[in-house]
Amino acid sequence: MKLALHWPRTLASRLSLIFLIGLALAQGLSFAAQSYERYQSAKMTMLGNLESDVSTSIAILDRLPAAERPAWLQRLQRRNYGYLLSAGEPGQPLDGEDVPVSMYSIKNALGRDYELAFNNIPGPRQHYQAHLRLADGSPVTIDVRPALMPMSPWLPAVLLGQLLVLILCAWLAVRIAVRPLTRLAQAVDSLDPNTHGVHLDEKGPLEVVHAAKAFNALQARIGAYLKERMQLLAAISHDLQTPITRMKLRAEFMDDSAEKDKLWNDLSEMEHLVREGVAYARSIHGATEASCRIDLDAFLDSLVFDYQDTGQDVELTGKNGALIDTRPHALRRVLVNLVDNALKFSGAARIEVQAQAGDRLSVKVLDRGPGISEEQLAEVLKPFYRVESSRNRDTGGTGLGLAIAQQLAVALGGSLRLSNRQGGGLCAELILVSGNQASL
Ligand code: ADP
Repeated sequence: MKLALHWPRTLASRLSLIFLIGLALAQGLSFAAQSYERYQSAKMTMLGNLESDVSTSIAILDRLPAAERPAWLQRLQRRNYGYLLSAGEPGQPLDGEDVPVSMYSIKNALGRDYELAFNNIPGPRQHYQAHLRLADGSPVTIDVRPALMPMSPWLPAVLLGQLLVLILCAWLAVRIAVRPLTRLAQAVDSLDPNTHGVHLDEKGPLEVVHAAKAFNALQARIGAYLKERMQLLAAISHDLQTPITRMKLRAEFMDDSAEKDKLWNDLSEMEHLVREGVAYARSIHGATEASCRIDLDAFLDSLVFDYQDTGQDVELTGKNGALIDTRPHALRRVLVNLVDNALKFSGAARIEVQAQAGDRLSVKVLDRGPGISEEQLAEVLKPFYRVESSRNRDTGGTGLGLAIAQQLAVALGGSLRLSNRQGGGLCAELILVSGNQASL
């Protein structure tokens, strides 16, 4: 099976991986170098000790009367080697390349005074014996079992501790490096020049301060450009109202004819467009309506009665009893735009009020019309976007109604969400925060 290694997708995991591998490698290398150096110097010391110890021990055994020798063996016994007063075990003569270095030390210590023979003793662990005869001809065997230097029992714990410190430092460093980037990405994500955007904290390391300042300046610049364009739209729309009224007046004096009716209709459409243009511009900037506390049920009742009075099929379901701080004209405008659309597309509208988690309230405007295709749900909230160009032209409109509703919803501290209903029709849901201080 082929193992495919994938480069992790997040910056945090990539940086963590690089840090961890780099630091662990550096740590491993320095540990290996230190261990090697320690091993070398310990080996040299041990071999030096072996040389002097073996020559002293054999000299002692040689000078002792044969009867006293066995009693000394215990004292001359060491961790890796000991002495036997016998010819030892049979084995292969030890020669060639692969001989233990301790053999040379024994040769150095005793080679001048005694004849030595080395035998490899087979077995799972390296084990060899050096045979010699003392001055009185009795055999002595040095039994050697070379062993690796023992490791301190606390060393693995220290290494593990170091690794944990490395992981902790890498995580901390990555967090410090990535957090501002995440905050910047979130701020860019929620960047909406029509709302009061997120102001990034201009604190922290120099690069972060620089990025935060650049983002805040960019946000302010976009806001200023947008404001300028909106003022332009408002000014043009506003100034067009007078000539349109004048033209309507002139059309009024024309003789009745089909041409007059067409001209009148065109002028009415222009007037509507211009009025909506001004309303849209005002929904973003310049509206100065004061916020006040209203009884939402009474407010919605009066709105529904106004429609019913003119014979429109609008009903209200759900009572909430909520008192909310809001801008009533703006709220009315949002709901009127939504209800008008519902009436336009299905001939009937239902308003449904529901309390939601926290201090949020949901006001839904529901209809059983054609709905809006999923891919256009977000688009229709943009100004001048109309679905009619690709379907029925009779429904008329400027494409500003939902854009105005959306702007005003945001200005009221809430939000507007569109979705298609099961069984057909559109659900326009306005989320309000009761007690909210609108920021328009
Ligand atoms: P318009 O003034 O053209 O109605 P809107 O901004 O109110 O502009 O609506 C934008 C588009 O969204 C419209 O072209 C319309 O097709 C669609 N739309 C709005 N409300 C509804 C609805 N209740 N049902 C179906 N389509 C709708």
